[in-house]
This record gives sequence, structure tokens and C-alpha cells, in this order.
Amino acid sequence: MAVKTGTSQAYRDNWTIGYTREIAVGVWVGNFDRSELRNSSGITGAAPIFHDVILAAVKRVGGGRGPIVDRPADLELQPICALSGHRPSTECPAIESEWLPASDRVAFCSWHHGERVELPAEYRAWEPHVRTAEAAVLHILNPPDGSTYWIDPTLHAEFQALQLKATDRVTWMVDGRHTEAEWSLRGGKHTITAVDGEGRRDSVTITVR
Ligand SMILES: [Zn+2]
Repeated sequence: MAVKTGTSQAYRDNWTIGYTREIAVGVWVGNFDRSELRNSSGITGAAPIFHDVILAAVKRVGGGRGPIVDRPADLELQPICALSGHRPSTECPAIESEWLPASDRVAFCSWHHGERVELPAEYRAWEPHVRTAEAAVLHILNPPDGSTYWIDPTLHAEFQALQLKATDRVTWMVDGRHTEAEWSLRGGKHTITAVDGEGRRDSVTITVR
């Protein structure tokens, strides 16, 4: 069967949802006044209940033995580079297999060059020891320039904050005022600026609705 557990922010509730071909079961555990659960997660709270309920249901309805979906006929097991997900070249150190459309010939991996790994620009910030000429320039990594965020009226303001991130240690300003790296969303158009100890800076503009 397919099963997923989940825990909400501040441990207010947890879920386990799953299905076989015949049955779907969802279990929610929480307090109706939204007060915090103690020592409970999706694994210890909802999952044992889910386990008992779905076993009882399978007994009653039957099934639960076969795969939950048929494998599409056009898929075949293809080798991929474990890091890039592309077709492995002779330089890829680790290879895995993945079900991919038979007609879909994935391009050869261009990340592995002997000992060296050359990540595409969008992933470079994830690997601090990959140093390139770009590292000398200060970049705001989050939020992306020109992005729009929506305030969700059903959530507490404290859960609606942006994590400001840059390629280096910086101080943050929003609309010219100093702020923490966790900035609570406020409606309007805002200019977010990062400044580091050497005076390098970068700015992005975002919209919050
Ligand atoms: Zn590779």
C-alpha cells in the first residue's frame, strides 16, 4: 500500500493517509482546541491507528495484495547517475536505476569530470566547498527577485515568514530598515537588501498580497 505520515507546525496535529487498490484510510490525531500534542508525531500518533484500521478493512473488503498501480507499459529500467539523474558517463562514481519512458533517452551526465563535480548554477549554493569565480559576488538566494507571496488568512502570522538567504553572512534590510533573516510577510511591494562586512550588497524586489 501507499502510506504517508505528516505532522503540522508546532505539533498541533498529525496525519497518516494511505490506500490499497480497494480502500483509502485517513487518520487525523489532534486536540479540537488546537492545543499542542505531547510526545506525538505521525509515526506514534496516527500511524498505529491507521495500521489497525486498514488491516481490519483489508480483512473485511479483501484485496491489498497486488501492486497499487499498474506499471505503464512504456517504462523501462534505465541506469542513471545517482547525483545528476542523467545517463551515466564513464566518470560517474555511483549509478542507480530508475523507471523511465523507453523513448526518453536522457542526456549523458555533464556534472562529473574526473574527481571534479561541476554543478549547474542553480545548485551551486547548496555545496559550500564548490568555489567558483561567482562566489566573489554577493547574491541573494532567497527570495528570488520579482517573486510574489500570498498571505494565508487561515494561518498565524508567525508561520508566514520568509527565510532570507544569501551566498554569504550578511545583514538584512527590508525597505531600508534592519531586519532579522526571518522576516514576517507584510502586504505591499518591498525591496530586500543584503549587505556583508565588506560592503558588498545585493537587492531584490518582491510583492506580498
Ligand atoms: Zn554523473
